[in-house]
Amino acid sequence: MQREIFGEEHQLFREQFRRFVQAEVEPNVAAWNEAGIVPRAIWKRMGEEGYLGANLPEAWGGAGGDFLYDAIIMEELAYARAHCLQASLHTDICLPYLESYGTEAQKRKFLVPAIAGDCLVAIAMTEPSAGSDLAAVRTTAIRDGDLYVVNGAKTFISNGQNSHLVIVVAKTAPTKRHDGISLLLVEEGTPGFERGRNLEKIGLRGQDTSELFFRDCRVPAANLLGQEGQGFRMLMEKLQQERLCIAVGCMASIRRSLDDTLAYVKERQAFGKPIAAFQNTQFKLAELETEYEIGQAFTDKLLAAHVRGEEIVKEVSMGKWWTSDLQKRVAAECLQLFGGYGFMAEYPISQDYQDAAVQSIYAGSNEIMKVIIARRMGLG
Ligand SMILES: Cc1cc2nc3c(=O)[nH]c(=O)nc-3n(C[C@H](O)[C@H](O)[C@H](O)COP(=O)(O)OP(=O)(O)OC[C@H]3O[C@@H](n4cnc5c(N)ncnc54)[C@H](O)[C@@H]3O)c2cc1C
Repeated sequence: MQREIFGEEHQLFREQFRRFVQAEVEPNVAAWNEAGIVPRAIWKRMGEEGYLGANLPEAWGGAGGDFLYDAIIMEELAYARAHCLQASLHTDICLPYLESYGTEAQKRKFLVPAIAGDCLVAIAMTEPSAGSDLAAVRTTAIRDGDLYVVNGAKTFISNGQNSHLVIVVAKTAPTKRHDGISLLLVEEGTPGFERGRNLEKIGLRGQDTSELFFRDCRVPAANLLGQEGQGFRMLMEKLQQERLCIAVGCMASIRRSLDDTLAYVKERQAFGKPIAAFQNTQFKLAELETEYEIGQAFTDKLLAAHVRGEEIVKEVSMGKWWTSDLQKRVAAECLQLFGGYGFMAEYPISQDYQDAAVQSIYAGSNEIMKVIIARRMGLG
């Protein structure tokens, strides 16, 4: 079905970005997955071509477009299975913190090079003992003159190895829960900041998901983002966009799994006919295609509302859990239709199955999404 949210300019941008992905990203995805990381040079190329700030203000080097341009980037990368290059994490999840809460000086120092592809950003919330329960983080940032002394450990941090800058969630008032949380900008090379392992994963293998350690790490007080004690509020404000990004990526990945499976079932023969001729194949794919259309229509509705600046936390939480669950089901059903070949690593559908697994876990697990929805329905 025609997707009405996109105009002609968006379409041209999609074609231009698709050509970039085909030329400079897709040929390298297998090698980057193998390496467990992408080279910083591809981030630089993304910056040079204007793909890291399509939705950010021109004053800081962005293109000042609407969020749909970034959605196009997410969709094209997901459709190309280039999950290793997680542009949305940098552009749509991390940079909005700098843009909304950064001082003039912080924006000049970090946001401008981030949009240019010279300063890759990560956000470190999760710790070995605190994931869903964010207010339980134990990393501390204690003020000492014009410094904060940071101590603690983070894990599962995307862009953990490649990042030049990490937005660290830490307690400036360790005895408090939500109100004790602040956000600090920790730069690569700050003494006491060390990167741990680039973790081995079953999916998203080209992403450098890592451990980070802070041992008496002395961070200039000028690197506090926003106000002390306001960190939790700032995080909650930005999670709407983060979760919408997941839904957008899920739908594009679903489209890719379905397209590849449709092609395969028409070609593969059993009992003297293509497996597409069996009623089971037809019904399965008809059901999944229906769910795809429903999911895409809802996601587009969320995108349009987000572009209009509406507060749609409940609806985005619905979109995040539903599309990520659908992606897992689609990947599993499509793998089944590939038979034994679906289980072979050389068939990309097997990778889709593995990559889908995490979508219901990160950016707030699907259970947490349901907690949010239920609360906003007046339950609990
Ligand atoms: C590939 C990958 C990349 C990631 N990138 C980042 C990153 O860049 N930055 C970052 O900070 N974090 C990142 N994370 C961490 C991710 O956000 C957390 O894994 C996630 O929030 C869940 O936390 P947890 O793993 O500690 O699970 P837990 O919080 O221990 O949850 C375990 C289970 O309990 C359930 N549960 C917990 N609380 C409740 C509740 N109240 N009601 C019902 N069920 C509940 C959960 O849904 C889950 O099923 C990443 C994780 C992965 C796997």
